[in-house]
Amino acid sequence: MIPNMSDMQTQVGIVGAGPAGLLLAHLLHGHGIASVVLETRSRAHIERRIRAGVLEQGTVDLLIECGLGERMQREGLVHHGIELRFSGRGHRIDFSELTDGRGITVYGQQEVVKDLLAAREAAGALPRFEVADVSVADLESDRPAVRFTYDGAEHELRCDVIAGCDGSHGVCRPSIPDAAVTTYEREYPFGWLGILAEVAPSTEELIYARHERGFALHSMRSPELSRFYLQCEPDADPDDWPDARIWEELRIRLALDLDEGPIIEKGVTPMRSYVVEPMQHGRLFLAGDAAHIVPPTGAKGLNLAVADVRVLAAALRDFYAGTDAGLGAYSDTCLRRVWRAEHFSWWMTSMLHRFPGGHGFEEKLQLSQLEYVAGSRAAATTLAENYVGLGQRI
Ligand SMILES: Cc1cc2nc3c(=O)[nH]c(=O)nc-3n(C[C@H](O)[C@H](O)[C@H](O)COP(=O)(O)OP(=O)(O)OC[C@H]3O[C@@H](n4cnc5c(N)ncnc54)[C@H](O)[C@@H]3O)c2cc1C
Repeated sequence: MIPNMSDMQTQVGIVGAGPAGLLLAHLLHGHGIASVVLETRSRAHIERRIRAGVLEQGTVDLLIECGLGERMQREGLVHHGIELRFSGRGHRIDFSELTDGRGITVYGQQEVVKDLLAAREAAGALPRFEVADVSVADLESDRPAVRFTYDGAEHELRCDVIAGCDGSHGVCRPSIPDAAVTTYEREYPFGWLGILAEVAPSTEELIYARHERGFALHSMRSPELSRFYLQCEPDADPDDWPDARIWEELRIRLALDLDEGPIIEKGVTPMRSYVVEPMQHGRLFLAGDAAHIVPPTGAKGLNLAVADVRVLAAALRDFYAGTDAGLGAYSDTCLRRVWRAEHFSWWMTSMLHRFPGGHGFEEKLQLSQLEYVAGSRAAATTLAENYVGLGQRI
């Protein structure tokens, strides 16, 4: 039992210890603002959760700036391009050349989370893990509350502001009255089977492949760990994908002589686009997946979460210095970037996947678009600058 938990107070109550919640706590700490992070899962669980792995230049710059870049700079893999593969041929999109030297860093989300937790631990401010029955209240007052149970007892955390960083299945967004928000949503008729394998990548850069049998992506997490994705049914059962079937399908779709290794993780992620507007209600501010979801084809989910909390941390710094203009502009500021990422992620998804029941006409359009991106500097630049991230320009 943590002492005095039944009557806690802080400046910012943060719900969720994913990348958004942990980075916000870290940035606030740097501004001298106190926060408490509440998380339903255990530390071991969130450190092992395999998800995103592509960091935009702006994300990398921010992590370095706030003192979290040391291991990422040592272990992260810097890439200056990707390959698009279709109609049996590969076409390189050269990020450096098209975006004035910008690139991406491949560094697993769980590694970012581990670095953030190490920083929280060093500050003596680890999240409260394994809390339950979380709810938020009094959002329209200037002392909102987060209620939860811990170790069988009920607790209340009073604060000035609540940051809802609890992901797509959290409690913060559903706590906003329906009439106060508009949601925009699209479901795609397929999912991704994500695979982590203990084998050196068979490629130096990511390969995005469009194939008549469906999309495939060859990515990586380290020189010893490969990450693959295969388009599958949205409700596919990973057990229907034995290892031999996975390797065979990857070889066909990627048209690559792949090295095999033990598959240590596989899971299905449905593909969805989702935005809630505004990203704020009273003293509750949503950040990351709690406010928006993108299909992972554009590698934007984690980067958007980081971009949101950068804006929120700066707005809270100004708030405690006496001006609330930043908090007032928070939602509009974030949504400009969110919608750009939504469009890019939808565009990449539409261009590269096989749509069930799709007609020859749509397939011809996809191929025409891919040929255009591969052959036109202007079209390739559009892909490149969105992929590496638009930085502070949006
Ligand atoms: C299964 C999955 C696979 C993904 N794969 C990729 C990928 O391959 N490539 C890519 O680019 N992006 C991927 N993404 C997207 C990317 O990982 C997310 O955009 C990113 O995790 C967003 O960070 P976040 O902190 O906003 O949310 P999250 O990482 O979801 O963190 C939210 C946290 O809140 C906690 N929580 C939930 N409910 C409560 C509650 N009631 N109270 C307290 N805590 C709560 C959760 O346990 C979690 O720790 C994936 C996402 C998912 C869900």
